[in-house]
Amino acid sequence: MALLELREIRKSFKMGGGDLEVLHGVSLLIEKGEFVAMMGPSGSGKSTTMNILGCLDVPTSGDYLLEGKDVATLDNDELATIRNRMIGFVFQGFNLLPRTSALANVEMPMLYSGVGARERRRRAREALDRMGLGDRMNHDPSRLSGGQQQRVAIARGIVNRAPILMADEPTGNLDTKTSDEIMKLFQDLNVNEGITIVLVTHEADVAAYARRILRFRDGIIIDDEINARVRGADAV
Ligand code: ADP
Ligand code: MG
Repeated sequence: MALLELREIRKSFKMGGGDLEVLHGVSLLIEKGEFVAMMGPSGSGKSTTMNILGCLDVPTSGDYLLEGKDVATLDNDELATIRNRMIGFVFQGFNLLPRTSALANVEMPMLYSGVGARERRRRAREALDRMGLGDRMNHDPSRLSGGQQQRVAIARGIVNRAPILMADEPTGNLDTKTSDEIMKLFQDLNVNEGITIVLVTHEADVAAYARRILRFRDGIIIDDEINARVRGADAV
């Protein structure tokens, strides 16, 4: 059984009275422990596909199986629970709460998962330490660089110990050097902690860190290949 499976996914959006189909039958298997990059030009359907994989949106037709379970059979509560337990998210714009410390930002996802206050704090510290931010815990986002903010967001993404981390253009707002640092962190989480990573990017230099690269064009997957030259692999 695959960890994630999409079968003939189609997705339409209502547009000016009609329906615009943007995914035209996407099928995909992702196994536990993979590091997959979804590449393709702007508008090709990467984010729409990731939102479906992340249970943030639902397909118009086709099936999505998460750990073999058909997501369409879950009610909203079950879906929220499974999303919280299984999936961490990282976004291009970091999406941190302003005027809120790094520590409190990282504690956020645990507010909904029944972890006690003391344990929340302990795990948030641990996740921030893991991201090299041990000395920035009490800083709010406005006092952190872009790269530091994204590391806080990654700490928040892993703090629930979800086995899957999904990132949509996580380096889109960062310079090249900082992008490389962030990608090495993703790679390290994948290699050393077995976290399955699904990454959206339109940059080849960023996708190069993944072991598998999917290429989207016009709402379908046109290519799915193993990356024979993984970047940074020797450094992990
Ligand atoms: P990518 O992430 O590859 O840039 P998206 O998946 O965001 O592409 O978008 C694919 C297509 O779907 C684009 O043409 C986009 O304009 C359209 N689209 C995405 N979300 C919506 C929405 N909520 N309503 C209408 N159209 C949308
Ligand atoms: Mg996108």
